[in-house]
Amino acid sequence: MGAGPAGIYAAEALAGQDDVPVAVDLVDRLPTPFGLVRHGIAPDHVKMRALRETLHHTLDHERVRFVGNVEIGTDLSLDELRRHVDAVVYTYGAAGDRRLGVPGEELPGSLAATDVVAWYCGHPDADRARVEEAVLRARDVVVVGVGNVALDVARVLARSPAELDPTEMPQHVLDTLAAAPVERVTVLGRRGPAQATFTTQELRELGHLARATVLVSPRDLDDPGNEALAAADRHVARNLAALQGFTENLPVDGWTTVHLQFHARPVRLLGTDRVTGVEVERTTVDEDGRAVGTGETYTLPADLVVRSVGYRGHPLPGLPLDAGTVPHQAGRVLRDGVPSTGEYVAGWIKRGPTGVVGTNKHDARETVGSLLADAASGVLVPRGDEDWVDTLVARGGRPVLLADWRAIDAAEIALGAAHGRARTTLHDRESLLAAVRSAAAAAEG
Ligand code: NAP
Repeated sequence: MGAGPAGIYAAEALAGQDDVPVAVDLVDRLPTPFGLVRHGIAPDHVKMRALRETLHHTLDHERVRFVGNVEIGTDLSLDELRRHVDAVVYTYGAAGDRRLGVPGEELPGSLAATDVVAWYCGHPDADRARVEEAVLRARDVVVVGVGNVALDVARVLARSPAELDPTEMPQHVLDTLAAAPVERVTVLGRRGPAQATFTTQELRELGHLARATVLVSPRDLDDPGNEALAAADRHVARNLAALQGFTENLPVDGWTTVHLQFHARPVRLLGTDRVTGVEVERTTVDEDGRAVGTGETYTLPADLVVRSVGYRGHPLPGLPLDAGTVPHQAGRVLRDGVPSTGEYVAGWIKRGPTGVVGTNKHDARETVGSLLADAASGVLVPRGDEDWVDTLVARGGRPVLLADWRAIDAAEIALGAAHGRARTTLHDRESLLAAVRSAAAAAEG
């Protein structure tokens, strides 16, 4: 359940074995597959997004059926679904955002990175008005967090219109970003540079933007523990070297600056009607790698604050959730500490929002291994032959199947071609479903 990377890798592992005969339904609440590969990987990361082509092989597999536009818990209850299938693998990810927990967080102009990412990727549920209102005022931007999502957001906001124009972003996103007055983007790490979670490739990429300069203060790199951490971890060593390279940079007239600041913990968002700034406390890092406040504060002006402090899983009615993940044992869902027959979990909703897309492959294989072992040992309860999709259609549901997704795919490619682009994302449910209807009408008529 959930046709993102975790769901697709689980389907691949199930369909690609011959020990247990399987028919896999890959269900998604959106009319489109690919989850965060479509609505999370930044659109300027063209090569990474091309992973969809590989994932598509699984959608095309004869033992796999894509069933989009179905919300379990709304269109069909989890119990109803479970009555029709031998096993369910929950792969619905972690769509929510974690909170900062500081005063002013709710002010207009303060957005979760999840909102900004959903918007620029053309997610149908993006709150377009709220994001665009904030982005169009954004001269001074503060991004909180130093993970890859924070760098994605900083980079997209700092890119020139010419750099973004060839991407799949919906036209209204390109227009808004082109009109945004972004001059300064400050990215805040509450700990030191050695504790940053971004990867070196993403960090270096910031140094290659057409009209933006990355600034780092040498003082921010001056942690006594850095040398030992770099010696123990190549990833840290590479990050520190890349950051060191940025310390030589100077602002360039007319270019956006992307200022990476460490030992900088936001304590309050300032403003009455909307965000005007961020009060930041300097920190030091203790020997356990924790941020410790120094009491010294400073203020950054901000028209837009993006809180990029991690994703969080949300509960599905009827499914246990503990601190944002489903309790499990080797992928078997635990209810009251006991494996629940026919219920499995994989991906971010299993292990939390960590790792790159490929991490889900190994993760899904573990889960599918448990499922297949249970099938082989007769633990699973076989269900009847009735197709749950027929039940859904009979009650007015409009599932989007593979051929329908192909119609959406073709419509996006055609929309992009009109502007000389490889594709443009259809960003609202109505246009996605209209593409399905018009392809069906053309086929009939
Ligand atoms: P992340 O890597 O966990 O980063 C979260 C950041 O928020 C950390 O810097 C964390 O600092 C900070 N933070 C958390 N609570 C905070 C608070 N209260 N105040 C200030 N800062 C706080 O998560 P993410 O960036 O959302 O990325 C999620 C996953 O997706 C990661 O595995 C990431 O690598 C992956 N991803 C990969 C790519 C790519 O490969 N290009 C792109 C996007 C995402 P602390 O460390 O101090 O807690």
